Amino acid sequence: MKKVIYLQKIGDVDDIVLKKLKKNLKRRFFNHVDSVEVLEKKISLSSLQYHPEKKQYDVSFFLNCLKKFVKNKNQFRTLAIIDKDIYTNDYNFIFGRAHYPSNEFLKTNGVALISIYRLRESFYGRSENKRLFKSRILKEAIHEIGHTFNIKHCKKYCVMQYSSSLDEADRKPLNFCKSCLKEIDVFLNNISV
Ligand SMILES: [Zn+2]
Ligand SMILES: [Zn+2]
Repeated sequence: MKKVIYLQKIGDVDDIVLKKLKKNLKRRFFNHVDSVEVLEKKISLSSLQYHPEKKQYDVSFFLNCLKKFVKNKNQFRTLAIIDKDIYTNDYNFIFGRAHYPSNEFLKTNGVALISIYRLRESFYGRSENKRLFKSRILKEAIHEIGHTFNIKHCKKYCVMQYSSSLDEADRKPLNFCKSCLKEIDVFLNNISV
């Protein structure tokens, strides 16, 4: 099995966003995966529960659906990307979510999700900043993929810092700290794909 990170659209997502994310993830995970690919076919938004009052999509169970979806495809890592506001039972909104590789299936077929909706400056009533938008998307993607490599939240200056607000997310770097990088190496060396 080739170690590929697949980018999976849920509903409509700007192709330019995906193209740039693919390029940047390739560079960031150069030592860890063989390639990054954008899947052509999108998953319909109707697979998520829409909450009309919150005007948000509930993704509480979505990763389980995604797991089933990738099961027969044998995809090493799948990062779903959605351009809608999302929440779960536990949080009013989330930037992303991932499953830790707690079983054999998740070790070889990791799944994660990010929403790019709240990463735009315009969401906060400020003027658009494409560079910032792009780097926020990359950061959230690296963070959630990090979880699929069994990396927990980290207190060092590291992309794996926990962030509950955009300010906190902006303060963390795009890079893994040395110990998280080491943990990824250990994890990947110990799985047979
Ligand atoms: Zn996290
Ligand atoms: Zn770290």
